[in-house]
Amino acid sequence: MKKVHTVPSGYEQEVHGEVATMIVDEVGIIEHANEHLLRLGGWDLKMLVGKVWYDALVPVNVRMSVAQRFGFIVNVRNEPHYVEAPLITPNGQQRIIAWTFTAQHETDLEPFRWRAVGIDVTHWIKERDLLVARIDYETVHDPLTGLMNGVTFRGMVDTLIRSAIEREEIVGVILLNIDRFRSIDEIAGREIGDSLLFEVAQRIKRCRGNDIIARWGGDEFTIAVSGIRTKEEVEAAARHIAEHIHSPYHIDGRSFHLHTRIGLSVAPHDGARADDLMQHVSVAVDVAKTLRGDHIVSFSEALGRQIEEQVVLEQELHGAIERGEIVVVYQAQVDAVTREVVGVEALARWYHSRLGEISPTVFIPIAEGIGLIRTLGLHILRESLLQAKQWREMGYPPFRMAVNISPRQLGHPTFVHDVFALLATTDTDPRFLELELTESAVMEDMESATEVLQSLARSGISIALDDFGTGYSCLAYLDQLQVSTIKLDRIFLRSSSHAKDPNALLRGLIALGKALDLRIVAEGVENEEHIARLDHEGADVYQGFFFSRPLTVDEVTRLLDQYGVKSEFDKETPLTENDN
Ligand code: C2E
Ligand code: CA
Ligand code: CA
Repeated sequence: MKKVHTVPSGYEQEVHGEVATMIVDEVGIIEHANEHLLRLGGWDLKMLVGKVWYDALVPVNVRMSVAQRFGFIVNVRNEPHYVEAPLITPNGQQRIIAWTFTAQHETDLEPFRWRAVGIDVTHWIKERDLLVARIDYETVHDPLTGLMNGVTFRGMVDTLIRSAIEREEIVGVILLNIDRFRSIDEIAGREIGDSLLFEVAQRIKRCRGNDIIARWGGDEFTIAVSGIRTKEEVEAAARHIAEHIHSPYHIDGRSFHLHTRIGLSVAPHDGARADDLMQHVSVAVDVAKTLRGDHIVSFSEALGRQIEEQVVLEQELHGAIERGEIVVVYQAQVDAVTREVVGVEALARWYHSRLGEISPTVFIPIAEGIGLIRTLGLHILRESLLQAKQWREMGYPPFRMAVNISPRQLGHPTFVHDVFALLATTDTDPRFLELELTESAVMEDMESATEVLQSLARSGISIALDDFGTGYSCLAYLDQLQVSTIKLDRIFLRSSSHAKDPNALLRGLIALGKALDLRIVAEGVENEEHIARLDHEGADVYQGFFFSRPLTVDEVTRLLDQYGVKSEFDKETPLTENDN
């Protein structure tokens, strides 16, 4: 019996079965094939025997790779091997056979062979490939909009940037956030929300069909604009998209309007990696969110620095009071007629060891934002009241201490209590304290502001309306809010030479204050001309650089000696024992 025709034991059952089997030698030459395999390929046995299996069975276009695969397995004989290979079929139909090669070890009677069992997996493979394709699609695409997702977008942008740099072009990334989408979702329902997002995606595709577009998150979309050379082109694209998104949506017989916050950044100028661009563009969107209206904000280095500084300041402000960096300076307020000091305004300063002096217009809003305003405000109030006490103890007649109060401070539930507690611990007659508020502070929550101000005013504290004339000037409420002083904003002292009567506004406001029996403090008095105009119209108190810049305690003390102090309070008040 010739060796090549030897059929190993147990093989007979498979000969007529529904699986294809073959016996090949250690280099892959076919020794035997079963009927099923012969039927599949329309061969007879002698056509196959003696040929290398992949030469005989596998179409030429993939033969090499199958041969390679078989080459890998021949040296590892102690485990079964799986080789997937198409089969040449007589009618040209594609069949895929999954072969499992198992080593048949040499015995005294039989040489080494591979026994291969092949299962027709054509049907299954097609399904699997479809499945894999779908899984791939779903992992890179957003199911709702069909747009690609953020991760894929990032990868593609990196590729875009590399080729753009080579061509000396730029890539613009636009990040579009739908304003207050969450409330639309909540009010109109999830289904409408989804329809809107779908429609937004369609509109972006219509505008920028050739660009890479992705759904970045819930209500955020990103667009990578390429094939361009200027930032203006990115801005134009962003405007175009915004216009389309802003036109009304009609869903289920209802109309909806969407607003957008858009940021953009440009590679390589703002960063040469997708990660950097995305970080920058979201900074730009955050800035857009702080602005009213549908804004498009371009990232810039300055903007990035500003945000960074803001973060640094937020961090630093936390320990600033304990480190003694928050200091109060005082600006004198003088009587319009006698030019004696009648009060001082406490103005906060932040001296940072590394960052230098930081303006209250910068750090007060930060303190409000990070919930530090109550602590900071109390610190300033305590310092000011202690300082006033010290001046009284030094023998100066009591004069008004004006302290600025931020809206957030006023809204704090313990505010009234805090103020009274500080007055008590510093032995201060409430009449010596003036709280300066802006109109916006009280307008925010009129009802509770009224209540707070009434209880403060009842105790004798005076309430000043700061920056008067620049806000809504809701005159009807001056009385209700217990306002006793108005501080005319310095803007009214700027000479308007082209006006027929440059003093008209000033005169009107002062007359108004007088009619309401209010004390009028003019701010920003910088020169003789200002004084002449104010003298003519009759303000009560002057405050400004002409008389005093905001000064340190020692400087103010010298000023008190120089100008003299005019106490506006009579001496019989119970809490003023320290007066001379
Ligand atoms: P404000 O209450 O209107 O304070 C007056 C501002 O005008 C001060 O600026 C003062 O230095 C400046 N000023 C005074 N006289 C003149 C002048 O003749 N000409 C010009 N051009 N300016 C003058 P400052 O100290 O930088 O304060 C700015 C703002 O910061 C204040 O405006 C106030 O709204 C806020 N602020 C300052 N300190 C505090 C504080 O302790 N608490 C709160 N909540 N806000 C404060
Ligand atoms: Ca003020
Ligand atoms: Ca002011």
